[in-house]
Amino acid sequence: MKTKGPKNPKRAIIFYYIAAGVLLLLLNALVMPELMRGSVIDVTYNQFISDLENGVVKVVEENATEGTITYSAVDENGKERVYQTAWVNDPDRVDRLLAAKNPDGEPVQYTGVIPTQTSPIMNLLFGLILPVLFMVLLGQLLMRFMMKKMGGPNAMSFGKSNAKVYVEAQTGKTFADVAGQEEAKEALAEIVDFLHNPSKYNSIGASLPKGALLVGPPGTGKTLLAKAVAGEAHVPFFSISGSEFVEMFVGMGAARVRDLFKQAAEKAPCIVFIDEIDTIGKSRDGAGGMGGGNDEREQTLNQLLTEMDGFDGSKGVIILAATNRPETLDKALLRPGRFDRRIPVELPDLEGRAAILKVHAKKVMVDENVDFMAIARATSGASGAELANMVNEAALRAVKQNRRIVNQEDLMEAVETVIAGYQRKNKVLSPREKRIVAYHEIGHALVAAKQTNSAPVAKITIVPRTSGALGYTLQVPEEETNLLSREEAFNKIATFTGGRAAEELIFGSYTSGASNDIEQATRLARSMVTRMGMSEQFDMMALATVGSQYLGGDASLACSEGTAQKIDEEVLRIIKSAHAKAMEILKDNVDKLHELANFLMERETITGEEFMEILNRPDEIPTVQA
Ligand code: ADP
Ligand code: MG
Ligand code: ZN
Repeated sequence: MKTKGPKNPKRAIIFYYIAAGVLLLLLNALVMPELMRGSVIDVTYNQFISDLENGVVKVVEENATEGTITYSAVDENGKERVYQTAWVNDPDRVDRLLAAKNPDGEPVQYTGVIPTQTSPIMNLLFGLILPVLFMVLLGQLLMRFMMKKMGGPNAMSFGKSNAKVYVEAQTGKTFADVAGQEEAKEALAEIVDFLHNPSKYNSIGASLPKGALLVGPPGTGKTLLAKAVAGEAHVPFFSISGSEFVEMFVGMGAARVRDLFKQAAEKAPCIVFIDEIDTIGKSRDGAGGMGGGNDEREQTLNQLLTEMDGFDGSKGVIILAATNRPETLDKALLRPGRFDRRIPVELPDLEGRAAILKVHAKKVMVDENVDFMAIARATSGASGAELANMVNEAALRAVKQNRRIVNQEDLMEAVETVIAGYQRKNKVLSPREKRIVAYHEIGHALVAAKQTNSAPVAKITIVPRTSGALGYTLQVPEEETNLLSREEAFNKIATFTGGRAAEELIFGSYTSGASNDIEQATRLARSMVTRMGMSEQFDMMALATVGSQYLGGDASLACSEGTAQKIDEEVLRIIKSAHAKAMEILKDNVDKLHELANFLMERETITGEEFMEILNRPDEIPTVQA
């Protein structure tokens, strides 16, 4: 990388502007008039009259507005020169001029200048504004060039000189505009209530989180939710996008953050929304300090942290931020008193998609017979933004066909248009995959439910997650427990193996979908043997030193090689028997497995209650308890 010249681009640019400014002034003040005048000789009015009478004058130009008379005359050496004198109110001059002869004996050319049409505005334009604009343009070009030379992904673009703080007095959005994000809305409702009435909270001494982080894939409605919070609370909405900070002058990001918080404090209660916070809040370690860009980001981040710590939460400034890459965020941002609340905004499930379609369909003329559920069913994995796009595409199609109402066919066609765009990104489960994932998840849930001492199932979903998981089964223990019994530990392992067991049982083969389960089952089985003394073979012998006091933390083996091998055998034995137990349970409940998997495939997300309801529903064929 060749970077001769100023190290600090900011200084170079300031230098450029100062130099350019001085040059501009000099040009305006000294050079321009000189250039325009050329080598004009000032003479007295008497001289002019005598030149006229002597017959040496050739051309005379009177400029009444400037108060000058400019004329050309031949001097003693026969050379033509330009002279200038003051315009004098001489009533005889016109007669004299008309009578005067030039050196060739012909009448002197006599003209006047038409009174000026250049208004002061034009003067300003040509004298100052245009040159300045030109200089600025040149400056910008120069900077672009310099930046290109400096290269690197962190090179700043100077196209924009500042990140705009957008303020909306009223966003005009409400929770009604956001469909299928009930959990997120619920979590944000408290913030709305706080903004409505901060004193209610303050009088008790309760303080709300200063910031909440909206986490989810693009297009799921994070920005929309933030706006809806402001709209619901009737407070102003300040927003700024993290990516804009990256494009700023060094030091500007921090200043802008300061500015943002100052403005917000004046307008409190209000919402401050920082979109794409990962672009400034990237983890500082391992980022590698290269170029001004990182410096800039770090300064901006530090300023953000300082501001968040500094302001008084009771004033009613709530900071919302959005990201789709929470794992890259600097830990400092997530500390208590900062963005300590995290609100997942996941891709919508079937019901959610239908609801989103309906919200957007309200904006266009839609045939009342349209079956939104059918559209929703065909769009598993689509985000809110994509669904909104589909409705619009459908409307466009209707217009193209000269219809005034959008019908089912338009929507189905639009689905294909839009899906073609994102299927490439591999986000959508094929029907076959969906079937496998459904059986896998129900496998976990069923094994969990059919064992005693196992945490109840709270939610099962086969909507792909931000984490990359294709589905999951959420178990929430009824009470916080500190002690793990041997039976519970074993049951957990059986539950982990339940997904794979279901795949084997139903499809006779299996997929890579169990890799995370395998990891977790192995870790638990290993700590049963090495740390919790839960195997007959090793009794209460300590076999590992624990790095972290938390269960599941990394532990390193502390035993002989021979023992290590025996440990592996013991771990394998536990997993195998848990796997067998899971298979047993599923075989005994295979009808329920089918019924529940079909239900999940249809609904994509089911609650623990729905799950238990179907499980406990008296069946045509009585199920055998394991
Ligand atoms: P994100 O910020 O998560 O990337 P946006 O909030 O910018 O997503 O969503 C873009 C657009 O998609 C919204 O303006 C809205 O029209 C539509 N949209 C996304 N999610 C929803 C939703 N849950 N309900 C209704 N519309 C949505
Ligand atoms: Mg957004
Ligand atoms: Zn699994």
